[in-house]
Amino acid sequence: MSAHTLFNGFLWAWIGIAVTTFIILRFVTAPYGRHTRGNWGPTISNRWGWIIMESPTLVMMPLLIGLGPVVLDGPALFLASAYLLHYIHRVLIFPFRIRTQGKRMPVVVMGSAVFFNLINAGSLGYWLGWDRAPFAPDFWSQWSTWAGLGLFLGGAILNIHSDYLLIGLRKGSDKGYQIPKGGGFSLISCPNHLGEMIEWCGFALMAGSLAPLAFAVWTIANLLPRALDHHQWYKKQFAQYPTDRRAVIPFIL
Ligand code: NDP
Repeated sequence: MSAHTLFNGFLWAWIGIAVTTFIILRFVTAPYGRHTRGNWGPTISNRWGWIIMESPTLVMMPLLIGLGPVVLDGPALFLASAYLLHYIHRVLIFPFRIRTQGKRMPVVVMGSAVFFNLINAGSLGYWLGWDRAPFAPDFWSQWSTWAGLGLFLGGAILNIHSDYLLIGLRKGSDKGYQIPKGGGFSLISCPNHLGEMIEWCGFALMAGSLAPLAFAVWTIANLLPRALDHHQWYKKQFAQYPTDRRAVIPFIL
């Protein structure tokens, strides 16, 4: 059996695990942020948790691309740069902007995210550096490249804008929660999560391969249940929560 066949088999199994995780997360709320609970074992500072759990993304992908035999052409360089730019922000900027001093997350959450990031960044790096066929010569004139790029950029803007609206709700050493307003929050409770899901679906569309698709499926498996849980939490927490606001898909869900 060729390495390519094995890799694809692994990716399909990984997608199957993502679907299973999605189902589990509809019943068990991931215990971090507002959903942190005391019965999940040892904890680590929220900020360090974010830095450690997202760091594998900045190591695994460049490492596997650098070690691999496949030469990095224009489209591959572009895709790798888009991925790395997102994670440079997530690892080196976002954790220093959040206002969660004194808050902690369970080590088990951080550990499972490290594992998730190792596999996903590893799959993307292996695909780009070892496994892939050359991109089509007309990559830059395909509709999927430009539609995917539009989704990627639009999703990234929605994600970052919404995260910073949330972060801006806290002043000084405040650690509480308020009803978010403005931007995507006019329509849904979790535009940051919607933006991230759109972003990686756009990336998968641009890339047109199984490893980016697996990553998009994993992102949805993590974030769709989280957004639904956040929405329920807001409705319980705030009697005056806007009744026409949906969880994650405007007017629908
Ligand atoms: P949240 O929306 O839960 O929180 C984002 C930040 O805003 C946190 O610092 C949070 O504080 C604060 N915050 C949230 N809501 C309020 C509010 N109503 N009032 C005041 N402060 C608030 O986002 P997540 O923690 O789920 O995710 C953070 C980022 O990471 C997002 O961009 C998400 O898309 C991304 N992510 C990506 C994943 C993937 O699979 N690709 C997986 C998980 C996250 P606190 O922590 O104290 O609640």
